[in-house]
Amino acid sequence: MPLPRRLSRELAAHDGEAVRIAGHLEEYRALGGVAFALVRDGSGTTQVTLKKGATDPAMFAALEGLARESVVEVEGTVARSERSRRGVELLPSRLTVVTPAEVPLPLGVVDKVGADLDTRLNHRVLDLRKPAVRAVFELRTAVLAGFRRAFLDRGFLEVETPKILRQGAEGGSTLFSVDYFGTRAYLAQSPQLYKQMLIGAGFERVFEIAPVFRAEPSDTVRHLTEIGMLDAEVGYVDDPEELRGLLEGIVADTVAASRADLERRGNPLAARLPEAKTPFPRVPFARAEAWLGRPGAGRDLSTEEERAVAERAERELGSPWFFLTDFPSAIKAQTFYARRQEADPSLTYYFDLYGGTLEIASGGLREHRVDRLRANMERAGVSPAAFEGYLEAFRFGMPPHGGWGLGIDRLVQALAGLPNIREARLFPRDRYRLDP
Ligand code: ATP
Ligand code: MG
Repeated sequence: MPLPRRLSRELAAHDGEAVRIAGHLEEYRALGGVAFALVRDGSGTTQVTLKKGATDPAMFAALEGLARESVVEVEGTVARSERSRRGVELLPSRLTVVTPAEVPLPLGVVDKVGADLDTRLNHRVLDLRKPAVRAVFELRTAVLAGFRRAFLDRGFLEVETPKILRQGAEGGSTLFSVDYFGTRAYLAQSPQLYKQMLIGAGFERVFEIAPVFRAEPSDTVRHLTEIGMLDAEVGYVDDPEELRGLLEGIVADTVAASRADLERRGNPLAARLPEAKTPFPRVPFARAEAWLGRPGAGRDLSTEEERAVAERAERELGSPWFFLTDFPSAIKAQTFYARRQEADPSLTYYFDLYGGTLEIASGGLREHRVDRLRANMERAGVSPAAFEGYLEAFRFGMPPHGGWGLGIDRLVQALAGLPNIREARLFPRDRYRLDP
C-alpha cells in the first residue's frame, strides 16, 4: 500500500507520521552535511531535509543531477522544524523522479528578475506555477463561486445559450465569422438576444457565465478577443434602480465572499480587494459630461475621459465603484434593444458599472414592445427580417425586463489590481495571440 499523498499545507497536522508528497522540484541546495530540496505542490512548498549519515547517499546524488521543475515524489517522516517556513520538514526515506524537466527552462519559476509579459504568456504553464500568478486564479475561482451563490440566492436560473449564431446582436464589426458547413455563421459576442428570449419564455430571472468573442482589433490593456462574461436578465422590472440594486448587491456579496475565501486560503490578494460598500454612487451621464467640460456633447466617453470621470467620482464620492447612469439615446442608437426613457426619449435607461477606472459592466432596461423595438432596429439600420426568432419572443407576450453584461476578466483585473487584463485569463486571446 503506498503511503497517502499529503499536500504541503496539510503537513503540520501530521507531525511524526510517514507520508508521501509529490510536486515540482523548486530548488535543491547542498550545504556540507545537509541538503534541502523544496518541493512545490498546489498548496505551497515543502522543505525536504537530507542529512549526511541519516539519508541514503543515493538520494543526494539523484537530486544533485536533477533539473529544477522536475516532478518528484518523496516518502518520509514529518518532523517539526523551527527553521522551515511551514514549521515542519520532511525527512525522506525514498525519492522517485516521476518526470524530469528539460534544461534550460524557457522561463524561471522562482527567478527574482521578472520576465516581460509576452515571455510569460508564451510559456504560460511555467508562469502559472508561480504562487503569485496562481493566486489570481484562486481569486477568479472565488469570484465565479461567489457569483453563482449570489445569483442562486436571489432565485436566478443558470442558463447556457448558443455561441454559434446566424446573426450578431449589434453591428458586424466586432463579430468573428465561421464557416458553418458552407454557410456563414458568427461566434456570439454576447448572449443578449437569447437571454431576452428566455424572459419571453417566462423564466423571470436568468444568468449565464460563458465565454463570448469580440473581433476587437485594438491592442489595449483592457481588451481581449475571448472574454468571460457574466450576463443576467430579469423580468417584470420597470425601474433601472431595481437592476442597479440587484447588480451592486451581487457584486458586494461576491467581493465579500471572495475575500473570506482568500483569507481562508492565506492568499495575499485578500487584503488587496477594494471594499464594495453599497449603495454605490450614481453619476448621471450629463453630470460626467459637465465634469469633463463638454455638456451635451452626446458622444461616448473616450478612454481618457473614462479615467478622468472615474478619478473624479472616487475623489468626490469616495467609492471605487460607481454607476454612470442615463446614457443618451444618441450614444445607444446601435443598441436597438435599449429602452428610451418615457419622460425624456433623448435618454435611455442604460448604465455602466465602474470598478476603479475600468468599465466593468453595462446594462439597462430593454425595449419590450415589439413595435418600438422594430422602430429602433430600423433606426439602427438593422433589418427586423433577420431577427425573426428574436422578435417572435416579443410577439406573444413579453414582460418588461432588463439586465446587464459584466466582464469577468475586467472584474478580476480590477479586484487584483492587475495592470493588464491578459494576466486575468489563463491563456488570453488578443489581436496577436492565438498560442498557447
Ligand atoms: P468597452 O467600451 O470597454 O470596449 P463595451 O461597452 O464595448 O466595452 P459591452 O458590450 O458593454 O462592452 O460588454 C459588457 C462588458 O464586457 C464590458 O463592460 C466589459 O467589462 C466587458 N468587455 C467588453 N468587451 C471587452 C473586451 N474586448 N475585452 C475585455 N472585456 C470586455
Ligand atoms: Mg459597455
